[in-house]
Amino acid sequence: MSFYAINPRNNERLEGEFQNATQEQINEAVAQAVTAFETYKKKDKDSIADFLNQIGDEILALGDELIQRCSAESGLPEARLIGERGRTVNQMKLFASVVKEGSWVDARIDTAQPERTPIPKPDIRHMLIALGPVAVFGASNFPLAFSVAGGDTASALAAGCPVVVKGHPAHPGTSELVAKAIKTAAKKTGMPKGVFALVQGNTIEVGGALVKHPSIKAVGFTGSFGGGKALFDLANSRPEPIPVFAEMGSTNPVFFLPGALKENAEGLAQGLAGSIALGVGQFCTNPGLNFMQQSSEAEVFGDVLAKAIGETASATMLTPGIKTAYSKGLETLGNVSGVDTLAKGLDASGDNDAQAVVFKTSAEDFASNHILAEENFGPSSVLVEANTKDEILDAARNLEGHLTATVHGTPADLEEYKDLFDILEQKVGRIIVNGYPTGVEVCHSMVHGGPYPATTAPQSTSVGTNAIKRFVRPVSFQDYPDSLLPNALKSGNPQGIWRLVDGELTK
Ligand code: NAP
Repeated sequence: MSFYAINPRNNERLEGEFQNATQEQINEAVAQAVTAFETYKKKDKDSIADFLNQIGDEILALGDELIQRCSAESGLPEARLIGERGRTVNQMKLFASVVKEGSWVDARIDTAQPERTPIPKPDIRHMLIALGPVAVFGASNFPLAFSVAGGDTASALAAGCPVVVKGHPAHPGTSELVAKAIKTAAKKTGMPKGVFALVQGNTIEVGGALVKHPSIKAVGFTGSFGGGKALFDLANSRPEPIPVFAEMGSTNPVFFLPGALKENAEGLAQGLAGSIALGVGQFCTNPGLNFMQQSSEAEVFGDVLAKAIGETASATMLTPGIKTAYSKGLETLGNVSGVDTLAKGLDASGDNDAQAVVFKTSAEDFASNHILAEENFGPSSVLVEANTKDEILDAARNLEGHLTATVHGTPADLEEYKDLFDILEQKVGRIIVNGYPTGVEVCHSMVHGGPYPATTAPQSTSVGTNAIKRFVRPVSFQDYPDSLLPNALKSGNPQGIWRLVDGELTK
Protein backbone atom coordinates (compact mmCIF):
# COMPACT_ATOMS: atom_id res chain seq x y z
CA MET A 1 0.00 0.00 0.00
CA SER A 2 1.39 3.39 -0.92
CA PHE A 3 1.04 6.83 0.60
CA TYR A 4 2.02 10.40 -0.20
CA ALA A 5 3.25 13.49 1.57
CA ILE A 6 0.85 16.40 1.88
CA ASN A 7 1.82 20.06 1.96
CA PRO A 8 -0.12 21.32 4.99
CA ARG A 9 -0.08 24.89 3.63
CA ASN A 10 -2.43 23.99 0.78
CA ASN A 11 -3.35 20.30 1.30
CA GLU A 12 -1.72 19.46 -2.04
CA ARG A 13 -0.05 16.14 -2.65
CA LEU A 14 3.72 16.37 -2.94
CA GLU A 15 5.85 14.52 -5.45
CA GLY A 16 6.85 10.97 -4.58
CA GLU A 17 5.04 7.77 -3.71
CA PHE A 18 6.02 5.87 -0.58
CA GLN A 19 5.35 2.26 0.28
CA ASN A 20 4.25 0.88 3.61
CA ALA A 21 6.98 -1.58 4.54
CA THR A 22 5.83 -5.19 4.39
CA GLN A 23 6.53 -7.70 7.15
CA GLU A 24 9.20 -9.22 4.86
CA GLN A 25 10.91 -5.86 4.42
CA ILE A 26 10.85 -5.26 8.17
CA ASN A 27 12.27 -8.74 8.77
CA GLU A 28 15.01 -8.07 6.23
CA ALA A 29 15.96 -4.71 7.78
CA VAL A 30 16.14 -6.25 11.26
CA ALA A 31 18.03 -9.32 10.05
CA GLN A 32 20.64 -7.05 8.48
CA ALA A 33 20.82 -5.03 11.69
CA VAL A 34 21.46 -8.25 13.64
CA THR A 35 24.31 -9.19 11.31
CA ALA A 36 25.68 -5.64 11.39
CA PHE A 37 25.66 -5.67 15.21
CA GLU A 38 28.27 -8.45 15.25
CA THR A 39 30.85 -6.17 13.63
CA TYR A 40 29.55 -2.74 14.66
CA LYS A 41 29.78 -3.51 18.38
CA LYS A 42 33.45 -4.34 17.90
CA LYS A 43 34.33 -1.14 16.02
CA ASP A 44 36.84 1.00 17.87
CA LYS A 45 35.64 4.28 19.30
CA ASP A 46 37.43 6.44 16.71
CA SER A 47 35.69 4.64 13.82
CA ILE A 48 32.26 5.13 15.36
CA ALA A 49 33.07 8.80 16.02
CA ASP A 50 34.12 9.18 12.36
CA PHE A 51 30.84 7.62 11.26
CA LEU A 52 28.78 10.03 13.36
CA ASN A 53 30.78 13.04 12.17
CA GLN A 54 30.36 11.87 8.58
CA ILE A 55 26.58 11.61 9.03
CA GLY A 56 26.61 15.28 10.01
CA ASP A 57 28.64 16.19 6.93
CA GLU A 58 26.39 14.18 4.61
CA ILE A 59 23.26 15.83 6.01
CA LEU A 60 24.79 19.25 5.31
CA ALA A 61 25.77 18.07 1.84
CA LEU A 62 22.08 17.48 1.03
CA GLY A 63 21.91 21.27 0.89
CA ASP A 64 18.77 23.20 -0.01
CA GLU A 65 16.97 20.13 -1.33
CA LEU A 66 16.56 18.85 2.22
CA ILE A 67 15.38 22.18 3.62
CA GLN A 68 12.91 22.77 0.79
CA ARG A 69 11.41 19.28 0.92
CA CYS A 70 11.19 19.42 4.69
CA SER A 71 9.47 22.80 4.64
CA ALA A 72 6.99 21.59 2.01
CA GLU A 73 6.16 18.50 4.08
CA SER A 74 5.95 20.17 7.49
CA GLY A 75 4.79 23.72 6.79
CA LEU A 76 7.71 24.88 8.94
CA PRO A 77 9.60 27.96 7.70
CA GLU A 78 12.95 27.33 5.99
CA ALA A 79 14.84 29.54 8.46
CA ARG A 80 13.59 27.41 11.36
CA LEU A 81 14.60 24.24 9.52
CA ILE A 82 18.09 25.56 8.79
CA GLY A 83 18.45 26.08 12.54
CA GLU A 84 17.08 22.61 13.23
CA ARG A 85 19.48 21.06 10.73
CA GLY A 86 22.36 22.79 12.57
CA ARG A 87 21.13 21.30 15.82
CA THR A 88 20.84 17.84 14.23
CA VAL A 89 24.37 17.97 12.84
CA ASN A 90 25.83 19.36 16.08
CA GLN A 91 24.07 16.61 18.00
CA MET A 92 25.82 13.97 15.86
CA LYS A 93 29.13 15.74 16.39
CA LEU A 94 28.59 16.03 20.14
CA PHE A 95 27.97 12.27 20.38
CA ALA A 96 31.03 11.70 18.19
CA SER A 97 33.13 13.64 20.72
CA VAL A 98 31.70 11.62 23.62
CA VAL A 99 32.46 8.34 21.86
CA LYS A 100 35.97 9.47 20.91
CA GLU A 101 36.76 10.51 24.49
CA GLY A 102 35.48 7.10 25.61
CA SER A 103 34.92 7.44 29.37
CA TRP A 104 31.13 7.21 28.97
CA VAL A 105 31.39 3.39 29.14
CA ASP A 106 31.65 3.74 32.94
CA ALA A 107 34.65 1.45 33.38
CA ARG A 108 34.98 0.21 36.97
CA ILE A 109 37.72 -2.07 38.15
CA ASP A 110 38.00 -3.84 41.49
CA THR A 111 41.36 -5.52 41.57
CA ALA A 112 41.75 -8.98 43.08
CA GLN A 113 42.85 -9.57 46.66
CA PRO A 114 43.85 -13.24 46.59
CA GLU A 115 45.20 -12.96 50.14
CA ARG A 116 41.90 -11.69 51.62
CA THR A 117 40.44 -13.95 54.32
CA PRO A 118 38.24 -15.78 54.81
CA ILE A 119 37.33 -15.48 51.10
CA PRO A 120 39.75 -14.15 48.47
CA LYS A 121 38.39 -11.23 46.45
CA PRO A 122 38.14 -11.84 42.69
CA ASP A 123 39.12 -9.33 39.98
CA ILE A 124 35.86 -7.74 38.77
CA ARG A 125 35.58 -5.23 35.94
CA HIS A 126 32.42 -3.43 34.81
CA MET A 127 31.45 -1.51 31.72
CA LEU A 128 28.43 -0.64 29.60
CA ILE A 129 27.85 -2.56 26.38
CA ALA A 130 25.43 -2.02 23.49
CA LEU A 131 21.98 -3.66 23.73
CA GLY A 132 21.58 -4.59 20.05
CA PRO A 133 19.31 -3.34 17.24
CA VAL A 134 17.15 -0.38 18.28
CA ALA A 135 13.85 0.73 16.71
CA VAL A 136 13.44 4.51 16.50
CA PHE A 137 10.22 6.51 16.02
CA GLY A 138 10.48 10.24 15.32
CA ALA A 139 7.95 13.02 15.83
CA SER A 140 6.40 15.25 13.19
CA ASN A 141 7.28 18.52 14.89
CA PHE A 142 11.05 18.06 14.63
CA PRO A 143 11.38 16.48 11.19
CA LEU A 144 15.17 16.66 11.46
CA ALA A 145 16.23 16.83 15.13
CA PHE A 146 13.77 14.20 16.47
CA SER A 147 13.47 12.10 13.35
CA VAL A 148 15.61 9.84 11.14
CA ALA A 149 18.97 11.29 12.25
CA GLY A 150 17.65 12.73 15.49
CA GLY A 151 18.73 12.30 19.07
CA ASP A 152 17.54 8.69 19.41
CA THR A 153 19.42 7.56 16.30
CA ALA A 154 22.54 9.52 17.29
CA SER A 155 22.62 8.11 20.82
CA ALA A 156 21.87 4.53 19.74
CA LEU A 157 24.56 4.53 17.04
CA ALA A 158 26.98 6.15 19.50
CA ALA A 159 26.26 3.36 22.00
CA GLY A 160 27.15 0.75 19.35
CA CYS A 161 23.61 -0.26 18.38
CA PRO A 162 22.36 -0.59 14.78
CA VAL A 163 19.18 1.43 14.19
CA VAL A 164 15.99 0.73 12.26
CA VAL A 165 13.90 3.90 11.96
CA LYS A 166 10.16 3.84 11.38
CA GLY A 167 9.77 6.99 9.26
CA HIS A 168 7.11 9.50 10.27
CA PRO A 169 4.33 9.54 7.66
CA ALA A 170 4.16 13.35 7.78
CA HIS A 171 7.62 13.77 6.20
CA PRO A 172 8.52 10.68 4.17
CA GLY A 173 10.57 12.58 1.57
CA THR A 174 12.67 14.23 4.27
CA SER A 175 13.15 10.84 5.92
CA GLU A 176 14.33 9.31 2.67
CA LEU A 177 16.88 12.07 2.04
CA VAL A 178 18.30 11.83 5.55
CA ALA A 179 18.40 8.02 5.38
CA LYS A 180 20.40 8.32 2.17
CA ALA A 181 22.87 10.62 3.96
CA ILE A 182 23.31 8.12 6.82
CA LYS A 183 23.84 5.23 4.41
CA THR A 184 26.42 7.22 2.44
CA ALA A 185 28.23 8.03 5.68
CA ALA A 186 28.17 4.35 6.66
CA LYS A 187 29.66 3.34 3.32
CA LYS A 188 32.36 6.03 3.40
CA THR A 189 33.47 5.11 6.92
CA GLY A 190 33.41 1.33 6.40
CA MET A 191 30.43 0.54 8.60
CA PRO A 192 28.64 -2.78 8.06
CA LYS A 193 25.59 -2.96 5.79
CA GLY A 194 22.49 -2.89 7.93
CA VAL A 195 23.91 -0.62 10.63
CA PHE A 196 21.09 1.73 9.68
CA ALA A 197 17.77 1.21 7.88
CA LEU A 198 14.62 3.21 7.30
CA VAL A 199 11.22 1.56 6.99
CA GLN A 200 8.42 3.81 5.90
CA GLY A 201 4.78 3.55 6.81
CA ASN A 202 1.57 5.41 7.55
CA THR A 203 -0.15 2.65 9.46
CA ILE A 204 0.31 1.60 13.05
CA GLU A 205 0.97 -1.93 11.78
CA VAL A 206 4.42 -1.02 10.44
CA GLY A 207 5.60 0.43 13.75
CA GLY A 208 3.92 -2.38 15.67
CA ALA A 209 5.62 -5.07 13.60
CA LEU A 210 8.99 -3.45 14.20
CA VAL A 211 8.51 -3.27 17.96
CA LYS A 212 7.31 -6.87 18.07
CA HIS A 213 10.27 -8.19 16.10
CA PRO A 214 12.15 -10.52 18.47
CA SER A 215 15.58 -9.20 17.44
CA ILE A 216 14.78 -5.57 18.33
CA LYS A 217 16.26 -4.94 21.77
CA ALA A 218 15.02 -1.43 22.63
CA VAL A 219 12.77 1.34 21.33
CA GLY A 220 13.33 5.10 21.21
CA PHE A 221 10.08 6.98 20.62
CA THR A 222 9.25 10.68 20.38
CA GLY A 223 5.65 11.62 19.79
CA SER A 224 2.17 11.64 21.26
CA PHE A 225 1.13 10.02 24.53
CA GLY A 226 -1.24 7.69 22.65
CA GLY A 227 1.48 6.44 20.31
CA GLY A 228 4.17 6.09 22.97
CA LYS A 229 1.91 4.28 25.42
CA ALA A 230 0.62 1.89 22.71
CA LEU A 231 4.17 0.94 21.71
CA PHE A 232 5.23 0.65 25.37
CA ASP A 233 2.35 -1.77 26.02
CA LEU A 234 3.19 -3.72 22.88
CA ALA A 235 6.85 -4.03 23.89
CA ASN A 236 5.82 -5.24 27.33
CA SER A 237 3.50 -7.86 25.89
CA ARG A 238 6.29 -9.49 23.86
CA PRO A 239 7.52 -12.91 25.05
CA GLU A 240 10.77 -11.01 25.71
CA PRO A 241 9.76 -7.52 26.91
CA ILE A 242 12.17 -4.75 25.93
CA PRO A 243 12.78 -1.22 27.23
CA VAL A 244 10.83 1.57 25.54
CA PHE A 245 12.17 5.09 25.96
CA ALA A 246 9.07 7.02 24.95
CA GLU A 247 9.23 10.80 25.21
CA MET A 248 5.68 12.00 24.98
CA GLY A 249 3.60 15.14 25.18
CA SER A 250 3.62 17.37 28.24
CA THR A 251 1.89 20.54 29.48
CA ASN A 252 4.91 22.08 31.22
CA PRO A 253 3.46 24.03 34.16
CA VAL A 254 4.69 27.58 34.76
CA PHE A 255 4.37 29.29 38.16
CA PHE A 256 4.31 33.09 38.38
CA LEU A 257 5.04 34.03 42.00
CA PRO A 258 3.64 37.21 43.58
CA GLY A 259 6.86 39.26 43.83
CA ALA A 260 7.75 38.59 40.19
CA LEU A 261 4.29 39.72 39.10
CA LYS A 262 4.62 42.88 41.21
CA GLU A 263 7.94 43.68 39.55
CA ASN A 264 7.15 42.86 35.96
CA ALA A 265 3.64 41.56 35.19
CA GLU A 266 3.70 43.08 31.72
CA GLY A 267 7.09 41.68 30.67
CA LEU A 268 6.23 38.23 31.98
CA ALA A 269 2.91 38.18 30.13
CA GLN A 270 4.63 39.20 26.89
CA GLY A 271 7.24 36.49 27.41
CA LEU A 272 4.58 33.86 28.03
CA ALA A 273 2.61 34.88 24.93
CA GLY A 274 5.78 34.46 22.84
CA SER A 275 6.49 31.05 24.31
CA ILE A 276 2.89 29.83 23.76
CA ALA A 277 2.90 30.93 20.11
CA LEU A 278 6.45 29.83 19.25
CA GLY A 279 6.43 27.33 16.37
CA VAL A 280 2.58 27.45 16.40
CA GLY A 281 2.79 25.92 19.86
CA GLN A 282 4.01 22.65 18.39
CA PHE A 283 6.65 21.89 20.97
CA CYS A 284 6.57 19.21 23.64
CA THR A 285 7.88 21.96 25.96
CA ASN A 286 5.09 24.40 25.14
CA PRO A 287 3.76 26.09 28.32
CA GLY A 288 0.23 24.76 28.53
CA LEU A 289 -0.51 25.45 32.21
CA ASN A 290 0.14 28.64 34.19
CA PHE A 291 -0.45 29.19 37.90
CA MET A 292 -0.64 32.42 39.89
CA GLN A 293 -2.36 33.91 42.92
CA GLN A 294 -5.13 36.43 42.46
CA SER A 295 -3.91 40.03 42.78
CA SER A 296 -4.11 43.34 40.94
CA GLU A 297 -0.80 42.45 39.26
CA ALA A 298 -2.27 39.11 38.15
CA GLU A 299 -5.08 41.09 36.51
CA VAL A 300 -2.57 43.25 34.65
CA PHE A 301 -0.79 40.04 33.61
CA GLY A 302 -4.06 38.61 32.25
CA ASP A 303 -4.85 41.80 30.34
CA VAL A 304 -1.42 42.03 28.72
CA LEU A 305 -1.44 38.32 27.89
CA ALA A 306 -4.90 38.64 26.33
CA LYS A 307 -3.76 41.59 24.21
CA ALA A 308 -0.57 39.85 23.05
CA ILE A 309 -2.40 36.64 22.17
CA GLY A 310 -5.15 38.66 20.47
CA GLU A 311 -2.50 40.09 18.13
CA THR A 312 -0.89 36.73 17.38
CA ALA A 313 -1.21 35.67 13.76
CA SER A 314 -2.50 32.20 13.05
CA ALA A 315 -0.12 29.85 11.24
CA THR A 316 -0.01 26.48 9.52
CA MET A 317 0.17 23.36 11.64
CA LEU A 318 2.26 20.32 10.74
CA THR A 319 -0.49 18.08 9.42
CA PRO A 320 -4.24 18.20 8.79
CA GLY A 321 -4.61 15.54 11.52
CA ILE A 322 -2.80 17.67 14.10
CA LYS A 323 -4.97 20.67 13.16
CA THR A 324 -8.16 18.62 13.59
CA ALA A 325 -6.99 17.31 16.95
CA TYR A 326 -6.10 20.85 18.06
CA SER A 327 -9.52 22.20 17.12
CA LYS A 328 -11.23 19.35 18.97
CA GLY A 329 -9.03 20.04 21.99
CA LEU A 330 -10.04 23.72 21.99
CA GLU A 331 -13.70 22.74 21.86
CA THR A 332 -13.29 20.33 24.77
CA LEU A 333 -11.43 22.88 26.90
CA GLY A 334 -13.93 25.61 26.09
CA ASN A 335 -16.80 23.38 27.27
CA VAL A 336 -15.32 22.55 30.68
CA SER A 337 -17.41 24.10 33.43
CA GLY A 338 -15.69 27.04 35.12
CA VAL A 339 -13.40 27.68 32.15
CA ASP A 340 -13.50 31.01 30.28
CA THR A 341 -11.74 31.97 27.08
CA LEU A 342 -9.32 34.75 28.01
CA ALA A 343 -8.03 35.45 24.50
CA LYS A 344 -8.01 34.21 20.93
CA GLY A 345 -5.41 35.01 18.28
CA LEU A 346 -6.14 36.46 14.86
CA ASP A 347 -8.51 34.43 12.70
CA ALA A 348 -7.15 31.46 10.83
CA SER A 349 -7.22 31.67 7.04
CA GLY A 350 -5.84 28.37 5.71
CA ASP A 351 -7.49 24.99 6.41
CA ASN A 352 -4.61 23.87 8.61
CA ASP A 353 -3.95 27.22 10.32
CA ALA A 354 -4.19 27.36 14.09
CA GLN A 355 -5.30 30.27 16.20
CA ALA A 356 -3.63 30.75 19.59
CA VAL A 357 -6.08 30.47 22.51
CA VAL A 358 -5.68 31.08 26.25
CA PHE A 359 -8.26 29.82 28.74
CA LYS A 360 -8.72 30.93 32.31
CA THR A 361 -10.01 29.01 35.31
CA SER A 362 -9.80 28.86 39.11
CA ALA A 363 -7.58 26.51 41.11
CA GLU A 364 -10.76 24.85 42.40
CA ASP A 365 -12.10 24.10 38.91
CA PHE A 366 -8.67 23.03 37.77
CA ALA A 367 -8.51 20.51 40.60
CA SER A 368 -11.77 18.87 39.56
CA ASN A 369 -11.19 18.72 35.78
CA HIS A 370 -8.30 16.47 34.83
CA ILE A 371 -8.69 17.34 31.13
CA LEU A 372 -7.32 20.84 31.86
CA ALA A 373 -3.92 19.34 32.67
CA GLU A 374 -3.68 17.36 29.44
CA GLU A 375 -1.70 18.43 26.39
CA ASN A 376 -3.61 20.10 23.56
CA PHE A 377 -0.75 20.06 21.05
CA GLY A 378 -0.63 23.57 19.58
CA PRO A 379 -0.74 27.21 20.77
CA SER A 380 -3.24 26.62 23.57
CA SER A 381 -2.65 27.37 27.23
CA VAL A 382 -4.62 27.54 30.48
CA LEU A 383 -4.23 30.21 33.15
CA VAL A 384 -5.11 28.96 36.65
CA GLU A 385 -5.82 31.54 39.34
CA ALA A 386 -5.50 30.50 42.98
CA ASN A 387 -6.72 32.25 46.12
CA THR A 388 -3.81 31.23 48.32
CA LYS A 389 -0.29 29.90 48.31
CA ASP A 390 -1.65 26.60 49.64
CA GLU A 391 -3.88 26.25 46.59
CA ILE A 392 -0.81 26.71 44.38
CA LEU A 393 1.10 24.08 46.34
CA ASP A 394 -1.85 21.68 46.18
CA ALA A 395 -2.10 22.14 42.43
CA ALA A 396 1.62 21.36 42.14
CA ARG A 397 1.23 18.27 44.35
CA ASN A 398 -1.55 16.99 42.11
CA LEU A 399 0.40 17.36 38.89
CA GLU A 400 1.35 14.26 36.95
CA GLY A 401 4.79 13.87 35.40
CA HIS A 402 5.90 16.57 32.96
CA LEU A 403 9.03 17.29 30.97
CA THR A 404 9.54 20.69 32.59
CA ALA A 405 8.28 23.08 35.24
CA THR A 406 9.10 26.79 35.34
CA VAL A 407 9.07 29.22 38.26
CA HIS A 408 9.19 32.99 37.92
CA GLY A 409 10.12 34.68 41.16
CA THR A 410 12.19 37.36 42.85
CA PRO A 411 14.93 36.14 45.23
CA ALA A 412 12.46 36.64 48.09
CA ASP A 413 9.75 34.65 46.24
CA LEU A 414 12.11 31.76 45.62
CA GLU A 415 13.00 31.66 49.30
CA GLU A 416 9.33 31.81 50.32
CA TYR A 417 8.33 29.06 47.86
CA LYS A 418 11.12 26.59 48.63
CA ASP A 419 8.52 23.88 49.24
CA LEU A 420 7.21 24.39 45.68
CA PHE A 421 10.63 23.40 44.36
CA ASP A 422 10.65 20.29 46.56
CA ILE A 423 7.33 19.26 45.02
CA LEU A 424 8.36 20.04 41.44
CA GLU A 425 11.57 18.06 41.69
CA GLN A 426 9.40 14.95 42.04
CA LYS A 427 7.24 15.86 39.05
CA VAL A 428 9.49 16.88 36.16
CA GLY A 429 12.79 16.32 34.37
CA ARG A 430 13.89 19.97 34.22
CA ILE A 431 13.07 22.96 36.42
CA ILE A 432 13.60 26.42 34.93
CA VAL A 433 13.90 29.57 37.01
CA ASN A 434 12.88 32.89 35.44
CA GLY A 435 12.80 31.61 31.85
CA TYR A 436 10.48 29.71 29.54
CA PRO A 437 10.41 25.97 28.85
CA THR A 438 10.59 26.18 25.06
CA GLY A 439 14.15 25.70 23.81
CA VAL A 440 16.06 22.57 24.83
CA GLU A 441 19.85 22.91 24.91
CA VAL A 442 21.71 19.84 23.58
CA CYS A 443 24.54 19.43 26.07
CA HIS A 444 26.00 17.10 28.69
CA SER A 445 23.76 18.14 31.58
CA MET A 446 20.38 18.35 29.82
CA VAL A 447 17.51 16.19 31.05
CA HIS A 448 14.68 15.94 28.57
CA GLY A 449 12.53 13.39 30.30
CA GLY A 450 10.51 13.11 33.47
CA PRO A 451 8.09 10.86 35.33
CA TYR A 452 5.20 9.11 33.57
CA PRO A 453 3.16 10.18 31.62
CA ALA A 454 5.80 12.55 30.19
CA THR A 455 7.93 9.49 29.48
CA THR A 456 7.87 5.74 30.02
CA ALA A 457 11.42 5.75 31.41
CA PRO A 458 11.91 8.43 34.09
CA GLN A 459 15.49 7.36 34.76
CA SER A 460 16.68 8.60 31.38
CA THR A 461 16.92 11.60 29.07
CA SER A 462 16.34 11.71 25.31
CA VAL A 463 18.31 14.92 24.75
CA GLY A 464 21.93 15.49 25.68
CA THR A 465 24.85 13.12 25.86
CA ASN A 466 23.45 11.08 28.75
CA ALA A 467 20.89 9.73 26.25
CA ILE A 468 23.55 7.22 25.21
CA LYS A 469 22.96 5.34 28.49
CA ARG A 470 19.50 4.24 27.32
CA PHE A 471 20.82 1.78 24.80
CA VAL A 472 23.38 -0.09 26.88
CA ARG A 473 23.49 -2.48 29.79
CA PRO A 474 26.17 -3.10 32.39
CA VAL A 475 28.29 -6.25 32.29
CA SER A 476 30.84 -7.48 34.84
CA PHE A 477 33.85 -9.49 33.74
CA GLN A 478 35.20 -11.62 36.58
CA ASP A 479 38.78 -12.93 36.64
CA TYR A 480 39.14 -12.39 32.87
CA PRO A 481 42.59 -12.67 31.36
CA ASP A 482 43.74 -9.22 30.20
CA SER A 483 43.91 -10.35 26.56
CA LEU A 484 40.18 -11.21 26.55
CA LEU A 485 39.02 -7.98 28.19
CA PRO A 486 37.54 -5.13 26.12
CA ASN A 487 40.11 -2.33 25.61
CA ALA A 488 38.24 -0.09 28.02
CA LEU A 489 38.98 -2.53 30.84
CA LYS A 490 42.49 -3.76 30.06
CA SER A 491 44.98 -3.16 32.86
CA GLY A 492 47.19 -0.80 30.85
CA ASN A 493 44.18 1.47 30.03
CA PRO A 494 45.13 1.62 26.31
CA GLN A 495 42.25 4.02 25.58
CA GLY A 496 43.39 6.47 28.28
CA ILE A 497 39.83 6.86 29.60
CA TRP A 498 38.63 7.79 33.09
CA ARG A 499 38.00 4.65 35.17
CA LEU A 500 37.01 3.94 38.75
CA VAL A 501 39.84 1.73 39.98
CA ASP A 502 39.42 0.37 43.48
CA GLY A 503 37.04 3.22 44.21
CA GLU A 504 39.29 5.98 42.86
CA LEU A 505 38.64 7.88 39.63
CA THR A 506 41.78 7.73 37.54
CA LYS A 507 43.20 7.74 34.02
P1 NAP B 1 2.67 10.60 16.85
O1 NAP B 1 1.43 10.80 16.10
O2 NAP B 1 2.60 9.85 18.12
O3 NAP B 1 3.70 9.91 15.84
C1 NAP B 1 5.00 9.48 16.20
C2 NAP B 1 5.35 8.19 15.48
O4 NAP B 1 4.74 7.10 16.15
C3 NAP B 1 4.90 8.10 14.04
O5 NAP B 1 5.86 7.40 13.29
C4 NAP B 1 3.62 7.31 14.13
O6 NAP B 1 3.40 6.61 12.91
C5 NAP B 1 3.94 6.33 15.25
N1 NAP B 1 2.77 5.87 15.99
C6 NAP B 1 1.86 6.65 16.62
N2 NAP B 1 0.95 5.88 17.23
C7 NAP B 1 1.29 4.59 16.99
C8 NAP B 1 0.75 3.33 17.37
N3 NAP B 1 -0.34 3.24 18.12
N4 NAP B 1 1.37 2.22 16.95
C9 NAP B 1 2.48 2.28 16.17
N5 NAP B 1 3.03 3.45 15.78
C10 NAP B 1 2.46 4.58 16.19
O7 NAP B 1 3.34 12.01 17.24
P2 NAP B 1 3.42 13.36 16.35
O8 NAP B 1 2.07 13.82 16.02
O9 NAP B 1 4.38 13.19 15.29
O10 NAP B 1 4.08 14.40 17.34
C11 NAP B 1 3.35 15.27 18.18
C12 NAP B 1 3.46 14.81 19.60
O11 NAP B 1 4.82 14.52 19.92
C13 NAP B 1 3.04 15.85 20.61
O12 NAP B 1 2.29 15.23 21.61
C14 NAP B 1 4.36 16.36 21.16
O13 NAP B 1 4.26 16.92 22.43
C15 NAP B 1 5.18 15.12 21.14
N6 NAP B 1 6.60 15.39 21.14
C16 NAP B 1 7.33 15.03 22.24
C17 NAP B 1 8.67 15.31 22.29
C18 NAP B 1 9.48 14.92 23.49
O14 NAP B 1 10.69 15.00 23.42
N7 NAP B 1 8.90 14.52 24.59
C19 NAP B 1 9.29 15.95 21.22
C20 NAP B 1 8.53 16.28 20.10
C21 NAP B 1 7.18 15.98 20.08
P3 NAP B 1 1.93 6.39 12.30
O15 NAP B 1 1.29 7.73 12.22
O16 NAP B 1 2.21 5.76 10.99
O17 NAP B 1 1.24 5.46 13.24
